[in-house]
Amino acid sequence: RHEVFLPQAVAVLENATSVTILCHVQPDADTIGSGLALALVLERKGIPVQVAFGAPDELPESMRELPGTHLLVPADQVRRNVDLLVTVDCGSAGRLGKLAGRLANAGETLVIDHHRSNTRFGRMNLIDESAESTTAVVAQMFDVWGVDIDADLAHCLYAGLVTDTGSFRWVQPGTHTLAERLLATGIDGARIARRLLDTHPFGWLPMLSSVLGSATLVPEAAGGRGLVYAVIRQAYVGDLRSEEIESVIDIVRTTSEAEVAAVLKEAVDGTWSVSLRSKSDVDVSVVAGYLGGGGHRFAAGYTAVNSADEIVNSLVESLG
Ligand code: 5GP
Ligand code: MN
Ligand code: MN
Repeated sequence: RHEVFLPQAVAVLENATSVTILCHVQPDADTIGSGLALALVLERKGIPVQVAFGAPDELPESMRELPGTHLLVPADQVRRNVDLLVTVDCGSAGRLGKLAGRLANAGETLVIDHHRSNTRFGRMNLIDESAESTTAVVAQMFDVWGVDIDADLAHCLYAGLVTDTGSFRWVQPGTHTLAERLLATGIDGARIARRLLDTHPFGWLPMLSSVLGSATLVPEAAGGRGLVYAVIRQAYVGDLRSEEIESVIDIVRTTSEAEVAAVLKEAVDGTWSVSLRSKSDVDVSVVAGYLGGGGHRFAAGYTAVNSADEIVNSLVESLG
């Protein structure tokens, strides 16, 4: 197990005879955009490549316009023995869900990621905690590799950049330079953002009404800096897509009275996944790590099997 830098990561990809790229469960546009961009490049180089994720069965609808989806295979059709297994945007092996066991069967494993909590679970680990998105790390790989970033690759990379930066709110020097390079290929940035972030069916509005209507503020939590949380029970989910569910935290987190925001999302099997966000003082990747998950300083998550009340109690306790 060791850290690798861009040239070594490129060399291992360039020399592979077959590659499987795994994205994280409940995939977002950063993991899928990174996976598809890498896969398109490998396909062009004549290297057999598959892309997959452990759950759910279908790609979220908002990502179906991304180039390279022909390289996606269902989780149960992932090749058993592969020369090189690459994970993208996964902070730990657990994020691969039911595909985590494939790590042991691969000749070589390369982890490409930007999570602060990354556990270095690959034999080779290319981790850039300073990167805005995993697609930004992949863009750097392409530069070292001499890959010409055309509109199809730019579309995939932009998808991860625009979503992981919260539509260019969480930016740093260089973020807009990369965005400009990608946009200059002729991609339609407005359309990509609208598809990924600003498109919801009408049923989203009554769901928001129920969920936000019972949001709760706990001013004394997090050492008096405040916690706000909302609970999305399966009963509210109906036939809404994951996109509608994932949008809720972005509204809840804007509450000025709370440093930390949480959304508890009930899965069909009754387990919960919890999204955490913070503004400036609290490192939620540490709190999520303590509760069995991980993430970034200001955006993290974990899964839990308790009742919603017990989950809130442990969260309040962990926040101190
Ligand atoms: P989200 O709230 O958008 O699902 O996740 C926010 C961040 O926390 C993401 O960067 C994601 O990788 C991380 N995260 C969410 N859920 C989990 C989890 O169950 N385990 C780990 N290790 N990280 C998670
Ligand atoms: Mn992700
Ligand atoms: Mn990411």
